[in-house]
Amino acid sequence: RPCMEGLAMAERFCDMIQKKKDGKILSEEEIKEMISDYCEEKIPDYQMAAMLMAICFQGMTDEELATMTLAMTNSGNRVDLSSIQGVKVDKHSTGGVGDKTTLIIGPIVAAAGVPVAKMSGRGLGFTGGTIDKLESIPGFCTEISVEQFSSQVNEIGICVAGQSGELAPADKKLYALRDVTATVESIPLIAASVMSKKIAAGSDKILLDVTTGSGAFIKDIDGAKELAEKMVAIGTHNGKETVALITDMDEPLGLAIGNNLEVKEAIEALHGRGPNDLMEVCYALAGNMIFLAGEGKYTYEEALQMAADKVKDGSAWEKFCYMVKSQGGELSYVENPETFKKAKISEEVTAPVSGYLKHMVTAEIGVAAGMLGAGRATKDSRIDNSAGIILKKKPGDKVEKGEVIATLFAETKEQTNAAKEHFLANCEFGEKPPVKRPLILGRITKDTSNLYGNEV
Ligand code: URA
Repeated sequence: RPCMEGLAMAERFCDMIQKKKDGKILSEEEIKEMISDYCEEKIPDYQMAAMLMAICFQGMTDEELATMTLAMTNSGNRVDLSSIQGVKVDKHSTGGVGDKTTLIIGPIVAAAGVPVAKMSGRGLGFTGGTIDKLESIPGFCTEISVEQFSSQVNEIGICVAGQSGELAPADKKLYALRDVTATVESIPLIAASVMSKKIAAGSDKILLDVTTGSGAFIKDIDGAKELAEKMVAIGTHNGKETVALITDMDEPLGLAIGNNLEVKEAIEALHGRGPNDLMEVCYALAGNMIFLAGEGKYTYEEALQMAADKVKDGSAWEKFCYMVKSQGGELSYVENPETFKKAKISEEVTAPVSGYLKHMVTAEIGVAAGMLGAGRATKDSRIDNSAGIILKKKPGDKVEKGEVIATLFAETKEQTNAAKEHFLANCEFGEKPPVKRPLILGRITKDTSNLYGNEV
């Protein structure tokens, strides 16, 4: 009999896939049942993969998306952060290459007196993950119970932990499947994934960093705006004030790509010495988080200034050190970054022609970092914390033939050889410099969609 039941369910779900494939609207009951049946493993991966692909092509209505997001949130527990005093603001990036912003803005915002209770993820596809970066600090622990999490935030104002398995487990399962079925790049699927976790994570307010460009999942600005608007609407509907910044990810953020290389760059940034692009994005994100938490206590400009001041007066760096110490990390490493493990092999990449570095296919630069050992080929592979890339030139820079444009770090020569070829194949050179666009491309709130400084 269970076999017959299984067969009936598979047939029913097949009808649902057909319905979505034909561009029809799934009912609330159908979506709820789909998420709970998939979590209970009543729907096999191959059927869910077909449904995800149908959603990629047909999209979802706002009602379908709202139902799917909530069903994913309700697949697990919601974190109760009520024992943490103050207005808690969470932040989530839709991913990128060289994106180490959480390591920098978490301490800045905490230094401004805003409690930072942040649950972060690991690397996915060509993008890096905050938890992998933090774990490259010897001893740093990210597997933290909810009680420890709350008490650390109450004590020192900040904790960055890995996603508990109980938080939106439907997203965990769906994301792993999307990662291997080319179904990550879908606006409704990204929106449901991000917002199901943010609603479950328990903060009062949410700042979203919606990345766009060749190193982001959503490459075009219109798509990024649509994604941002949908996520802001979901957050608002669930009683959480939500703001999204649209930020440029057409080139890697900063100069370092790879786990301990990025930690070292974040340490520089916390001393005010980070690359200009990284500092600008961090100040904008931190300023927006402080502004949201302030609930009208200070103006937007004052909040942005506070973010910069917390770096200048050293208090953000101090917070970072407290966090490292509280989470078991060895302070000697962050205090003396040259003690971090170094890669066995380093290899320089040089410009094949004179002119300008015009463009990088940034997702592929992330892939090159993965080939060096900075990412996972499968979900169980080991990461090499010292592997990665230090860029010496960024798009827009003038280069001479033979000049070093990047240094690659890995364990073996085979890795650097393969990554070098991939890296160069994804750099475009030209005689004229490219037209650069702003790093902060837009700000979306529940009432305004502001792109390039224009109300639209
Ligand atoms: N980040 C997420 O958490 N989910 C996505 O689907 C994409 C980026």
